[in-house]
Amino acid sequence: MKGDTVKAADKQYLAPIYNRFDAVLDHGKGATCYDMDGKEYIDFTAGIGVNSLGFCDDGWVKAVTEQLSKLQHTSNLYYTQPDTQVGQILCQRSGMEKVFFANSGAEANEGAIKVARKYGVDRYEGRRNKIITLVNSFHGRTITTLTATGQEGFHKNFGPFPQGFDYAIAGDMEDLKNKADDATVAVMAEMIQGEGGVVPLQESYVKELASFCKERDILLIVDEVQTGIGRTGKLFSYEYFGIQPDIVTLAKGLGGGLPIGAVLLGGKVADTLHYSDHGSTFGGNPVACAGAVEILKRIDEAFLDEVRQKGIYITDRVRKMPCVTGVTGRGLMLGVSLKEGLTSGQIVKEALEAGLMLLTAKAKVRMLPPLTISDEEINKGLDILEKVLSAHNQ
Ligand SMILES: *Cc1c(COP(=O)(O)O)cnc(C)c1O
Repeated sequence: MKGDTVKAADKQYLAPIYNRFDAVLDHGKGATCYDMDGKEYIDFTAGIGVNSLGFCDDGWVKAVTEQLSKLQHTSNLYYTQPDTQVGQILCQRSGMEKVFFANSGAEANEGAIKVARKYGVDRYEGRRNKIITLVNSFHGRTITTLTATGQEGFHKNFGPFPQGFDYAIAGDMEDLKNKADDATVAVMAEMIQGEGGVVPLQESYVKELASFCKERDILLIVDEVQTGIGRTGKLFSYEYFGIQPDIVTLAKGLGGGLPIGAVLLGGKVADTLHYSDHGSTFGGNPVACAGAVEILKRIDEAFLDEVRQKGIYITDRVRKMPCVTGVTGRGLMLGVSLKEGLTSGQIVKEALEAGLMLLTAKAKVRMLPPLTISDEEINKGLDILEKVLSAHNQ
């Protein structure tokens, strides 16, 4: 098998920080890809919510390669067009006022944390510096975003960790009110906890949280790294609740496969960071931004409506499958609960063998297909899943 030499080299030279699935992927188009030995897979992962338009979308490839052959990078000491275009579109479509760019979700969240702390210095002479996140959240793997991540398992081995974080039970407004004090500068939350198991926040909770933060001048940071850029059927998942966050972080789906992160700043914090307060060598890279412009142009209302329709269709079909006890999530961010005794890891492994790429999120099977996945690919993938699940139905 051609892939075997790659697997051997990976094992020999790459630090074993990933538990890789048994496939050496080689090329793809849309939501279909192939390994080095020509085996076909239907992709329900989009590279963990990254490939918004699937593999090698024509328009995206064109936008990226045109920019690539013009100017691949220049430092942030100069103006370029692509990052300003992304900034303009993001502001116009989010109701936010300013943007700065990073290269990943963790970095975007680090940036958001810096903005919140600086706000505490500007407005409250540093008396406010505490950030509350939610239990079971995921915000990244840098030292500070690990600390922000509300899961005990991430708070070991890499200490000392920074101070100034506390954790409130998701969905429990009383717990949050008890933890918010005179030192609290911000609350950071995902509207649907992704890595935590595709766990949506309740609408009433989100609304109460937003008005509580507003009353107390506590900044509301919404981590849209996984939920953003059309993934849930709205450009930003917070739009479902009619709220306006103070800070929004983006990454995964924004670049369509190239590394990019962004921090959107609302009115309160638009003027918080100044020259020399922050920066990034690669942040706002022209090639990544050219891809992002294409993605944002494509994701219009009709596109988002299709994402919602596909999500409903998949949910309806999966709910009726054997061994399935429930489906959570929205749009094309879905979590499938399995009957007792079945692990998500086992189903995902068997599905891959049968030609369907899936993810896990804790005990659930997680689906994050490309937003452009065709009906044919959806049905092909669901047929495979149904077959895999049926084998466990006794
Ligand atoms: C993936 C993810 C991150 C981290 O993004 P990286 O690009 O891996 O650093 C942060 N927050 C959420 C909600 C995520 O899903």
